[in-house]
Amino acid sequence: MDTSDRLTKLLQAECDRTNSRVKNLLNDGYNCTKCNNRGWTAEIIDGAVRYVDCSCMPLRNNMNKANKSGLSAILKKYSLDNYKVSSEWQGKIKKSAYEFLENKRGWFFIAGQSGAGKTHICTGICRELIKTGHNVKYMLWLDDVYKLKKFDEEGENLRETLKSIEVLYIDDLFKTDRNEIPSSADVRIAMEILNFRYINNKMTIISTEKNISEIFNIDVAVGGRIAEMSRENIINIKNEKEKNYRLDFV
Ligand SMILES: [Zn+2]
Repeated sequence: MDTSDRLTKLLQAECDRTNSRVKNLLNDGYNCTKCNNRGWTAEIIDGAVRYVDCSCMPLRNNMNKANKSGLSAILKKYSLDNYKVSSEWQGKIKKSAYEFLENKRGWFFIAGQSGAGKTHICTGICRELIKTGHNVKYMLWLDDVYKLKKFDEEGENLRETLKSIEVLYIDDLFKTDRNEIPSSADVRIAMEILNFRYINNKMTIISTEKNISEIFNIDVAVGGRIAEMSRENIINIKNEKEKNYRLDFV
């Protein structure tokens, strides 16, 4: 055995030792048998021991993004794949979701009564975006608006995140506690967030029980921003009878 073979053998032994000894540095719930949850493996490259990122790392980063998005619970449940198409209007919604993902132009707006599958389709879009590395934040309107109205540190941090995050999904825009008309504080918050995102051309996905003309009635400026940005992606699911929907593309 010549010197270089001996060196290689020593280095390999060092790699093997490190790879078998160092375990579970990452504690995100994902189990990788290849790296024993270190996130890297020791390998010989150009005659030296180097630490190479394990193939589980992109997946871990996306999991981390999913957790940060606030969507992790519903992401498990809803995908575009498992959005059932049993009638024409559902087919159109699914198609427009895929088109939106392909073009990534403007905003996505879907209005309709509770139970029409709005959250499912929007979460499905977010899931695809997270899978391809985008940073997404989920805003449940009623809960988050309550936090924003408190003007404490949590509220301020949330406000900045909702404005600046790469992709924002607002679920149930303008929903109120007892179905009252949204207050002027609600409108101010919507305008602040949406106007910032409008000026900075940031992707925004909105689901709501109010159709676009109802939004205009609540506030012309908010309605105007949404209508302008969502032009190609304004979907209005009309409920004619129980579970009998019809689709209006405005
Ligand atoms: Zn790994």
